[in-house]
Amino acid sequence: MNNSAFFKIGYGLYVLCAHENGKDNGCIVNAVMQVTDTPKRILVAVNKQNKTCEMIKSTKKLTVSVLSEKADFEIFKHFGFQSGNDVDKFDGFKDAKRAENGVLYVTKTTNAYISATVTTETDLGTHILFTCEANDAEVLTDDKTATYTYYQENIKPQPQKSEAKGYRCKICGYVYEGEPLPSDFICPLCKHPASDFERI
Ligand code: FE
Repeated sequence: MNNSAFFKIGYGLYVLCAHENGKDNGCIVNAVMQVTDTPKRILVAVNKQNKTCEMIKSTKKLTVSVLSEKADFEIFKHFGFQSGNDVDKFDGFKDAKRAENGVLYVTKTTNAYISATVTTETDLGTHILFTCEANDAEVLTDDKTATYTYYQENIKPQPQKSEAKGYRCKICGYVYEGEPLPSDFICPLCKHPASDFERI
């Protein structure tokens, strides 16, 4: 199996947010899609290790903010490469508004948001798949949606030519200098597994 085939799927990139007991949190996901029009239903899959996942499981409420091509690597680092268990990602973060379901959505470098209520959840092992009904949705800008391919080619820092030997994370660019790459290695930046690294 060629794992690179999966990178050819036309993913977008999203900030998934939740609100529980006065606390806000959000993380980056790529698995969001609309599946029915009447009612407007979306699927959202998120890794169980994300605090946002736990919060959605208990509150059944979420927002999805659609990242545009204006998004920079900082927003991916802010929401994607640190945990809501360690930091309050919305402490001092001004570019957010509260949707009518009480959950924040991100207004900076996003082009739309959807607020939704979870109707069913499916345990996928590492992830939970939430089926949701949209409560509200708005277009924020006319900027193009950032695809995963666009992120790889234009947002993620491009690898520098260097003498470093080892393995590079295909998701965030982190370099592991060493040989071999441990099979249970987890990227310290983006938390993706050893299978997402390539030899340099
Ligand atoms: Fe990484």
